[in-house]
Amino acid sequence: LVSREAKEMPTIIEVKDAKFGGEHLAIIAGPCAVESINQVMTAAEKIKAAGGQVLRGGAYKPRTSPYAFQGMEEKGLEILQQAGHEYGLATVTEVIDQPSLDLACRYVDMVQIGTRNMQNFRLLQAVGKVRKPVILKRGLSATIEEWLMAAEYIMSEGNEQVILCERGIRTFETYTRNTLDLSAIPLIKDLSHLPIIVDPSHATGSAKLVSSMAKAAVAAGVDGLLIEVHPEPCKALCDGPQSLDPEQFATLTTDLRRLAQAV
Ligand code: PEP
Ligand code: MN
Repeated sequence: LVSREAKEMPTIIEVKDAKFGGEHLAIIAGPCAVESINQVMTAAEKIKAAGGQVLRGGAYKPRTSPYAFQGMEEKGLEILQQAGHEYGLATVTEVIDQPSLDLACRYVDMVQIGTRNMQNFRLLQAVGKVRKPVILKRGLSATIEEWLMAAEYIMSEGNEQVILCERGIRTFETYTRNTLDLSAIPLIKDLSHLPIIVDPSHATGSAKLVSSMAKAAVAAGVDGLLIEVHPEPCKALCDGPQSLDPEQFATLTTDLRRLAQAV
């Protein structure tokens, strides 16, 4: 179902003002984690003003350490929904299991499968049964083939609205959090009709690398970007070092629109 042979024309997935696929460039932005109503409202206002279309925020955080902040759960989903309504943005959040998926479906427009769950086949089948677009992040060490087969798990349950997200893969390099595999963009376009977006924030782990990698992804023909933006990155409970502040984000979106027209 994921392959070009199954469907020749690119799939275009529309969520409120965002269009993923075809000639469009969709921009998803927001904090790593929902921390408070003020934090999300401020982020949403700035993201809308800069031309973003989708607001992101984690309410269930799959953290490396069990002692790290795990997310606000249902309260976080409520905040995300409220900010989305207030500023006319679509919303997306990560789901980690069946209970979080059931709740997320009540509050947000799209769901995300994180890198650590890319091969959680039961979870893939569960999101395959819902009627919301799914962002499927590439596994930390997944091949393109494994990633496409994960998308197949979702589609084979009936949900054909899958957006692939390249977010960096694990290599021997330690100066960056992960290594962004830009070649995934043209490769996926060749192999599949599904839209592909890039997350330069988790790919690099460093705010100062985000803009260059976002532009490179647009030059390579990406369908959208997922960028972590926090009103005050130095105070973030999660992923502050890779988060842009609203001003940096606004500069980047201006540059990206200009670049996208040239590509
Ligand atoms: C995220 O987008 O907040 C996230 C945890 O990303 P990843 O699954 O790519 O690490
Ligand atoms: Mn994050």
